Parts: sequence; C-alpha cells; structure tokens
Amino acid sequence: MDQPQKMIIVSAPSGAGKTTIVRHLLDAHLNLEFSVSATSRLIRPGEIDGREYHFITADSFRQKIDEGKLLEWQEVYPGSYYGTLVSEVSRIHENQHYPIFDVDVVGGLNIKKMYGDQALALFIQPPSYEILEGRLRARATENEASIKKRLEKVRWELEFASKFDVIIINDNLNTAFQDAEKAVRTFLK
Ligand code: ADP
Ligand code: 5GP
Repeated sequence: MDQPQKMIIVSAPSGAGKTTIVRHLLDAHLNLEFSVSATSRLIRPGEIDGREYHFITADSFRQKIDEGKLLEWQEVYPGSYYGTLVSEVSRIHENQHYPIFDVDVVGGLNIKKMYGDQALALFIQPPSYEILEGRLRARATENEASIKKRLEKVRWELEFASKFDVIIINDNLNTAFQDAEKAVRTFLK
C-alpha cells in the first residue's frame, strides 16, 4: 500500500486556538498524527517532554540546525527557537498517518512551499485582537513578559492569513471544530 504523503499545517497567532483545534482534529479519526517539534523554550506545567515538544537547550537546537535535522525552524519569540524535525515527517508517514503541524505563520508557509498540493495550510483566525488577548490571559500559562512577547506579534501574524489555503474563524468553538474538520476531510479524501 502506498504511504499517505499528505499533511496538515495549522498556524495562527498565540492564543487563537491552534492547540485546541489540533487536539480536536487528532481525536476525529482522520488518521492524523501530531508532529512533535523541538523547542528551546521552557517546559510549562502540565507539558511532557516528547509529547508537546522535544524540549532541548539552545545549544542542542543550534547543533540540530547544523546537522540538517530540521525541516524548518524559526526564532518565534526572541530567544525561543522552534523547529520541525525531518525525522517526524518520515516517522509519521511510515506509521501510515498524516502529519499535522502546529507551527508559526512563517514556518507554516515554508512547509506549504516545500510540499505544495500535498499540504493543506489552515489559518486559525480569532474574532478580534481583544478577544485573543482575553483568551491568552485566561489560559494563564504564561507570565506577563511572555504574554507581552506574544501580543506584540499578533497584528503582524494576522496579516499572513490570506496566504493560507483556508481561514478558520475561531469565534464559536464548535463551529470552528466543524469547519476545520470539514476542510481536512475534503482535502484527505
Ligand atoms: P494557541 O494554541 O493558538 O495558543 P489555545 O488552543 O491554547 O491557543 O487557545 C487559547 C485559549 O483560548 C485556551 O485557554 C482555549 O481553551 C481558549 N479557546 C480556544 N478557542 C476558544 C473559543 N472559540 N472560545 C473560547 N475560548 C477558546
Ligand atoms: P508555544 O510556545 O505557545 O507552544 O508556541 C509558540 C509558537 O511557536 C506557536 O505559534 C507555535 O505554533 C510555534 N511553533 C511550534 N512548533 C514550531 C515549529 O516546529 N516550527 C515553527 N516555525 N513554529 C513552531
């Protein structure tokens, strides 16, 4: 049997609802598997190394870049590196699953450029900047400095929306779940 080579990219500013929507898609029996990125940011309470991310030092991250182990990488916030491991894509395809990437807007568009029609790029759009800020604060996973770093990038990140294949408006969560699921099902058919 041919290995499925398609893949799903999910991008958005922090707090827009990527993680929530990716989790829903992973539970929707679509044969998706999460691509676990490498990052140099600190682990948050509740996260498990190897599940949300491979948490590594900035030095190990730079070594992986030099060794060509990253398909793409970005310094998403000053001092915090994030990158997609080449090995994740092959591992997931070998498992006969479709990779789903939760990556920043630039990384998402870079992956889309590499894989073209094999990749579906979804942009999760919050109803407004103010609502996104409220969600980010209510999530309470970040200190004020980290929230500020994230909010400073939001308006710039929102300008990338039209470059994606599909924009999912995340106002009502159930509607966003349905819209995202429908787009992915249609693409994978
Ligand atoms: P991201 O991964 O893009 O940073 P999250 O998925 O963590 O965003 O969502 C940010 C916060 O907003 C979380 O606490 C999540 O539960 C909440 N959230 C996500 N979507 C909605 C929605 N449609 N309505 C209300 N709260 C939401
Ligand atoms: P967080 O720190 O909230 O987990 O993620 C911060 C940002 O980094 C999010 O926009 C997330 O999508 C992005 N990100 C996570 N992994 C990667 C990756 O491998 N590559 C890129 N370019 N961005 C990533």
